[in-house]
Amino acid sequence: MRRLNFFACVALVAALPLAVIGCNRTAEEANRPPVSIDELESEHAGRPHAETYAEAVEDLDALRSQISEASAAGDIEKAHDPLHDIGHSLEHVVELANKQGLGADAVAEISAAVEKLLDAFGKVDAKLHDEPGAEYSEVEADVDAAFATLRKHLPAAP
Ligand SMILES: [Zn+2]
Repeated sequence: MRRLNFFACVALVAALPLAVIGCNRTAEEANRPPVSIDELESEHAGRPHAETYAEAVEDLDALRSQISEASAAGDIEKAHDPLHDIGHSLEHVVELANKQGLGADAVAEISAAVEKLLDAFGKVDAKLHDEPGAEYSEVEADVDAAFATLRKHLPAAP
């Protein structure tokens, strides 16, 4: 039967060049996980991972804006994806600050700001999961203060 199917496939390919995609997929997909990690990552972010501290802060700021706007519009549920993304991005900020050659004092300040942000956004996310947490408006002042710290350590524009 296998053999028959194989020839049927070849015949189909000869007749309809486009069908080659369909034929190959069947065999390939049996040996492949549904989605590779690379595919997942590119799909997940829709943008490349930040490679410098400045890029990381820019990414974080874009997510913060989305969350802040959703909150102001009274539709914080819209900010649920950015809230999850921002946790992921925050994990890399301290590492990138180190890579950037910022001094120990600067990295300590950045680290404290990141902790503050994880705590603040964590509370907002918790609330979306019906757990005790906070509205964004309740943590917004903390968030803005932490971002001011992050921005303070940005390298001067070239
Ligand atoms: Zn969540």
